Amino acid sequence: MNIVLLGPPAVGKGTYAGFLSKKYNIPTISVGDLFRTAIKNRTELGKKIQDYVTSGNLVPDEIVIELVKNRLEEPDCKNGFLLDGFPRTVPQAEAMMEFKKIDIALNFVAPDGVIMERISGRRTCRKCGAIYHIKNIPPTIDGICDQCSGRLVQRADEKPEVVKKRLEVYREKTKPVVDYLKQKGLLADIDAHYDIKDVDKILNQCDEHLQKLN
Ligand SMILES: [Zn+2]
Repeated sequence: MNIVLLGPPAVGKGTYAGFLSKKYNIPTISVGDLFRTAIKNRTELGKKIQDYVTSGNLVPDEIVIELVKNRLEEPDCKNGFLLDGFPRTVPQAEAMMEFKKIDIALNFVAPDGVIMERISGRRTCRKCGAIYHIKNIPPTIDGICDQCSGRLVQRADEKPEVVKKRLEVYREKTKPVVDYLKQKGLLADIDAHYDIKDVDKILNQCDEHLQKLN
């Protein structure tokens, strides 16, 4: 089962991928992790990626494509994979269709309000980095870390106006890919507005789609 995962920041993709990976016994391939590993190992591609990243430029399609292609050829992907962070552009999607078949693209969707609340409710401990949520995982004392008594702060990229912008950018950037996969009949929308404790409601929708593939 070759599965592509799509969804805005904080929709919970990583969590669902973890469950699906275990259940279907296929690896999760995160392009962000591939970048980090390639840079760390100083591979030929890694050096190129580092140059783009340090200069603040987007890594070009052909480099991302080569990196993903190489990874998907490894033996652990023989029976399938969950791919997170790729394809991000239509040329990437087209290239992938050439070297690997995509069976389905699970598109996790949730209203902006839900995502805003999830992200902008987060508080991070300045001292130890522990993460809280004002509603879902509140500290015992308001604004103070349970573990180290450090002060809890809201990260700059988690402020509501910044989150709103991130969501807009995400939508604008991925819309062409979403449209492309939909056109190919590969897109399956998953309603991910549920709370994380209702993760089964989200996974059941995934299962329904994935079982049709078998
Ligand atoms: Zn702390």
